[in-house]
Amino acid sequence: MSNPSGQIIVIGAGPVGLILSLALAQADQKVCLVEALGDDNFLEQVPRAGTNHPATLEMLDRVGLYQKLEPRGIIAPVFHYWDRHEGKRIAAFDHAHLKNDTRFPYVLQCERIKIVEEALKMAKAQPNIELRLSTEFLAFEQHADGVTARVRNPDGDEETIAGRYIVSGEGARSIIRKDLGIAFEGFTYDDRTLNIEVAYDFRKHGYAERNYISDPTEWSNLFHWKGPPDRWRVHFPTDPKANEDELMRPEALQARLQGFLPTGKPFDIVGSNLYVVHQRVADKFRVGRAILAGDSAHVNSPIGAMGMNSGIHDAINLADKLIAIARKEADDSVLDRYERQRRHVAVAHTQAQTIRNKRLLTEQDPAVRQRNHDELRRTSEDPKLARKFLLRTALFESLREAEAIV
Ligand SMILES: Cc1cc2nc3c(=O)[nH]c(=O)nc-3n(C[C@H](O)[C@H](O)[C@H](O)COP(=O)(O)OP(=O)(O)OC[C@H]3O[C@@H](n4cnc5c(N)ncnc54)[C@H](O)[C@@H]3O)c2cc1C
Repeated sequence: MSNPSGQIIVIGAGPVGLILSLALAQADQKVCLVEALGDDNFLEQVPRAGTNHPATLEMLDRVGLYQKLEPRGIIAPVFHYWDRHEGKRIAAFDHAHLKNDTRFPYVLQCERIKIVEEALKMAKAQPNIELRLSTEFLAFEQHADGVTARVRNPDGDEETIAGRYIVSGEGARSIIRKDLGIAFEGFTYDDRTLNIEVAYDFRKHGYAERNYISDPTEWSNLFHWKGPPDRWRVHFPTDPKANEDELMRPEALQARLQGFLPTGKPFDIVGSNLYVVHQRVADKFRVGRAILAGDSAHVNSPIGAMGMNSGIHDAINLADKLIAIARKEADDSVLDRYERQRRHVAVAHTQAQTIRNKRLLTEQDPAVRQRNHDELRRTSEDPKLARKFLLRTALFESLREAEAIV
């Protein structure tokens, strides 16, 4: 059995597991971080999250990651809503309205893969983290004083790791959540989302670095990422009955892009993938010494960029509580507060907001669409309303509300 000390076992070196491990280690806590991927395949992960909101930038800064990510990302103070049906911009929101609220009045467009790459380098250099790459977590047990995790190491042998707590940063398919029998309630959208990555500068058509585009038949999101190659990610809905091979054919991808922006010339497509979107929250975030954080506790549509961001907020909230317990400044019941705070945010903010965002982009009723668009326009043009709106989308409101939960 490895290290039967007071360490905390973190499963999964995604953004949540890594940031939790760094925050714990920087406060002198010993961490054993277990990740199935190894140095040979860690960077071969499909494109996912990438918009980092101001409240999250403060947390990335706290663990020393912000300064490493800023040069690899794009600072984007403004985002847009567009009406594709009318071919018009509806509203532009400028984070400059938050200049007195945060040191970061902008989002940083910096993809998850760059975040985990930089965070992994930091974890490797951090003496309080025992990093177990190419190691698959299999199962765990808990008892009054601690936990044990069963893993398969790179040699294919099973071994047991002991610790004080175990945290699932395993993502949506969490074994810990399933082993604990925790329900993951919610729903899955019928339509999969098609993601196309294209090397083309959409700014010359008036788009911002980040755009939400409503349309009753084919809504879209459009985001800019720093290269090389400099590229834009375009999201489209798909017919639930359509066959995956058909949807992903190069000619079909080109046709989608030409439908969105007819240039008459083929787009330089640098990547594409199709994904299923779930809206689910775990019934419990904690059972005894086992705790869920990030996608293992909640999953949502990427419209609004709240999944990874809220997972990082879980990680920082949880790190502070585990540190307080270790320093005997709090007892173990603070972990129930973690659950109350972060589950509230998952349900009342992340789920509610992402479901609303999708409805806004897909609304069919012309009168409701018009009303929604008028409200967005009015909000963006009134500095007080715009600030209030941005405090919510930049995730400060959810943090303040969570802080008030005892
Ligand atoms: C297309 C798309 C776009 C998105 N865009 C955004 C966005 O702009 N902003 C945003 O906030 N969110 C976005 N999200 C959501 C975001 O990607 C996730 O919320 C985020 O990655 C969750 O982080 P995590 O660390 O909890 O889990 P993950 O990122 O899933 O990481 C889990 C880690 O655990 C490891 N692991 C799993 N099982 C085991 C095991 N048994 N043993 C050992 N290791 C294991 C995995 O290999 C992985 O490294 C998007 C998602 C998608 C699909």
